Amino acid sequence: MKNNMRLLNQVALVTGANSGIGKAIAIELGKQGAKVGINFVSHPEAADEVVKTIVSYGGQAIKLYADVSNEEDVEAMFTALISKFGGIDILVNNAGLQQDAAFQDMTLAQWKLVIDVNLTGQFLCSRAAVREFLKNGVIAGRSKAAGKIICMSSVHEVIPWGGHVNYACSKGGVELLMKSMAQELAPHKIRVNSIGPGAIQTPINRQAWETPEALNNLMTLIPYQRIGQPEDVASLASWLASDEADYITGTTVFIDGGMTLYPGFSTNG
Ligand code: NAD
Repeated sequence: MKNNMRLLNQVALVTGANSGIGKAIAIELGKQGAKVGINFVSHPEAADEVVKTIVSYGGQAIKLYADVSNEEDVEAMFTALISKFGGIDILVNNAGLQQDAAFQDMTLAQWKLVIDVNLTGQFLCSRAAVREFLKNGVIAGRSKAAGKIICMSSVHEVIPWGGHVNYACSKGGVELLMKSMAQELAPHKIRVNSIGPGAIQTPINRQAWETPEALNNLMTLIPYQRIGQPEDVASLASWLASDEADYITGTTVFIDGGMTLYPGFSTNG
């Protein structure tokens, strides 16, 4: 995909944009001409770095604090974004975390934290964005859609994941959150889709790639035989948010080097 400033004059908000996949998406949306809200909950200095990078490409960005699972924080973040940039066209619900435990040892706090951030956070941010999309409708010269939402899901919206039941449930929930929103909001020209990454090299899954043994082991799950990079996901997100993808809504696009192809069956099971 070439750099054609496909998001010129649009405003985007990326949650969890100071690390990993969110950071790469924010930078790519900025390169494509969008003004970008850089949400963070910790490490404000990392959010400053992302803002600086976008500005260095001639773009505009601001950092915005919010815990996405906190309603007041989310509302305040949207107010700040809209007062700075005048509206919102694109929401990337990227913030997420893991709290892993064997099923019998998983605490209620671990369960709740993951559901609150990964699922309720996407609900709260989507609701705030949709209210704004509905207020403004399609704005001539900006985009064919009144608004676009991209939910960061995972291959674990379809692949069960032992030791991570809270995470898999949160992403399974994101699938039907996304599809139900897409169905309800399509008549209002609001597109809602998910991205389902496989293994992408970020801090969230460091233990899966930081030693040669771990990486070798991971390759048994990836037919394409390489770990994904945040930039792989960023170029997909920027395209999905653009008018080039105007007829796509209600879909999860997996970006996983074939992880969802049941590689264990490649030699006849
Ligand atoms: P990461 O840990 O680098 O980034 C996660 C981001 O979410 C961080 O910026 C973190 O501060 C933020 N965050 C966490 N809790 C938050 C909260 N309450 N409010 C606001 N922000 C919060 O990990 P990543 O791999 O870049 O993960 C990004 C998304 O991609 C997550 O939703 C994750 O589930 C999903 N994902 C990642 C992979 C992978 O292999 N890396 C695979 C599938 C899905």
